[in-house]
Amino acid sequence: MLHQRHWKLFTSAAVALAATALGAASAGPAQANGFPPDVTSAPDVARYDDAPSWSGGANCSGGFTPGAKRMQDWLRANWGSATIQGYSCRPNTANPSKTSIHGVGRASDWFRDAGNATHRAQVASFIARMSANGAAMARATGVQYWIWNRQQYSVQGTSVQRSGYSGPNPHTDHVHLEQNIAGSRLETSYWRLAGGWESLGGTLTADADVASWASGRLDVVARGPNNSVWHKTYQNGWYGWKDLGGQIIGGPTAVSWGPGRIDVFGRGTDNALHHKFWNGTAWSGWESLGGTITSDPDAASWASGRLDVFARGTNNSMFHKAYQGDQGGWYGWADLGGQFLGGPGAVSWGAGRIDLFGRGTNNALFHKYWNGQSWLP
Ligand SMILES: [Zn+2]
Repeated sequence: MLHQRHWKLFTSAAVALAATALGAASAGPAQANGFPPDVTSAPDVARYDDAPSWSGGANCSGGFTPGAKRMQDWLRANWGSATIQGYSCRPNTANPSKTSIHGVGRASDWFRDAGNATHRAQVASFIARMSANGAAMARATGVQYWIWNRQQYSVQGTSVQRSGYSGPNPHTDHVHLEQNIAGSRLETSYWRLAGGWESLGGTLTADADVASWASGRLDVVARGPNNSVWHKTYQNGWYGWKDLGGQIIGGPTAVSWGPGRIDVFGRGTDNALHHKFWNGTAWSGWESLGGTITSDPDAASWASGRLDVFARGTNNSMFHKAYQGDQGGWYGWADLGGQFLGGPGAVSWGAGRIDLFGRGTNNALFHKYWNGQSWLP
């Protein structure tokens, strides 16, 4: 909660905590709580990442970072249920020109009572485990700093430096715990060892699909709770979910033929193929491309202005519909044969080439490809 940082106090009063073996476990299989044992060495370099400027809240994250959420799960997995909160978009109380670390989602307040012997022992155990073996766990989880019971702790090099904390809040009812940017992104070694997955929120009612038009750019689509198509973008960070409308059965598919372009397809409630696209500036409306499909579609593109869409038909064979912008647009549906238990997977490795896959009625994988002139085999 309220706290100030007093870095200047560190240099003379700093006390290197003894790196005891307390709490250090050897590497091995995952613990029953779902997290791997504490690491006893880590490649991660300790670093302190300050928060950006306040700028009226423009730099706030909108919620806890993935790393903060996993850290909170780890605290609860080790020391039981507790109130942990602390996302708050506000300036740093000690320096109003900067955003609080609470505003960028990298600080958690773990509510423990310094007057409670059990809680005190829990925090002591946390500190011992963070500090052991050259502060391996602190570095591996990206923990950079915490405050507890009138003391502040800074991870520096391969040790944890402790000094008195004299900010307005003595932190006797909670541990204020900060992660650096790498830890907040689950990029440090312990989280990679833990096989972390980042929740991107939303409420999905069918499988997601993703397309990319450039390095560092992702466009994810999925069906939402109202059976419309939802879209989420990554570009220097994730944007919020956006409802693209439409009404579909099953999951949508997305493909890009080049920078600034996304094409989205879904099986409409009328079982026809439905289509919507982003042209770099705006979304088109939904259009029906006809057909009667019995699976989710998948799409590939081998060139700018080219789309190839596939889906299973009523006779359980695979159907194909292509778009060629410089040849008048959409071609009719073509039956490519085969007998399938589900939907297609399609991809292009370059101009004129499409590889198409499906699950056959004997559960084997079946493959067919377009070499630029014909479908083979
Ligand atoms: Zn705090």
